Amino acid sequence: APAPQRRAIQDLPDELISQIAAGEVVERPASVVRELVDNALDAGATQITVRLLAGGVRLISVEDDGCGIPREELPVALRRHATSKIRDLQELEHVGTMGFRGEALAAIASVSETAILSRLDGEDNGWLLEARSGELRPAARNRGTTLEVKELFFSTPARRKFLKSDATELAHCIESVRRHALARPDVGFSIWHEGKLVEQWRAVPMGEGTDRNEALARRLSDVLGADFVASSIAVLRTSASSGITVYGRAGLPDAARSRPDQQYCYVNGRFVRDKVLTHAAKSAYEDVLHGHKQPIYALYMEIDPARVDVNVHPTKIEVRFRDSREVHQAIKHAVEDALAAPRAALLAQAAG
Ligand code: ADP
Ligand code: MG
Repeated sequence: APAPQRRAIQDLPDELISQIAAGEVVERPASVVRELVDNALDAGATQITVRLLAGGVRLISVEDDGCGIPREELPVALRRHATSKIRDLQELEHVGTMGFRGEALAAIASVSETAILSRLDGEDNGWLLEARSGELRPAARNRGTTLEVKELFFSTPARRKFLKSDATELAHCIESVRRHALARPDVGFSIWHEGKLVEQWRAVPMGEGTDRNEALARRLSDVLGADFVASSIAVLRTSASSGITVYGRAGLPDAARSRPDQQYCYVNGRFVRDKVLTHAAKSAYEDVLHGHKQPIYALYMEIDPARVDVNVHPTKIEVRFRDSREVHQAIKHAVEDALAAPRAALLAQAAG
């Protein structure tokens, strides 16, 4: 074969850089929903409305009542590596927001027709920016922001071919909002598809002194069903040695399922998929669950942000712990503690 001819090294065009980055962040409509809801939560929203057409492929609109974006910053929001959330390395290491990479909107805008409509408090009107044309014009709305993402992957047909049926994409979008909703009982969520309301989870009032697990139980009941709460038990434990707090609910052994489809883990409010956490939770059921039965649970871990690195995965669904052994212990002991009472009752029943 002829030797390949060497081509000169060149900088990639900006648009292509964003499209490549989009490959990591935006896999399907549900990824867009996740990023936009993250942003709405970071903006302090109390009510978030998600509207979808064709499973999110034709339209994803996420509307919030958060702080809004000033007119002059609208174009900046769409730029790569532009963020209001961190300023320096110090802040990166203690990041308390869902976002911080400043990549999502630029990536999404590079593979769709994106528009931002936003209004600040105290302004007469909002402003609408169309990403592709750069057109900026006044528009009516209340305080907050709406991101509109149309025709996802219209410019990247290869990507578009990987999408599944509208029903499947819709299910993934709903699951994405569900993960957020389980982390934030204080925020109201609604999801519309093709003009029909498909899910609505009302904000749980959380005043001073509201019991966190009580508020959570209400949200879990709304989102996962009353059965989830009825067949699970409250978890709450702070490890004296590591300072890690774990709360939430762990399913009774009887509620275990054949598939791990009701296992939710959060680290400092962020939904994560992590082998250490799932292994730890499973190991708490070691002597009460047999075979391949999967326990159900929603577990929330609070850990010093300096002890967890959230900047290891573009979608932040994976994290790295500085000391995974102490994390494993904290989860295992918290779930074991919760299960101890019902287990004792079961044993007594068996003995009697
Ligand atoms: P990141 O969330 O990592 O900062 P994004 O690309 O998702 O990056 O968003 C860029 C910036 O746009 C954010 O830092 C934020 O200042 C602003 N922004 C995005 N969405 C919203 C929103 N719904 N409300 C207010 N500001 C927003
Ligand atoms: Mg973001």
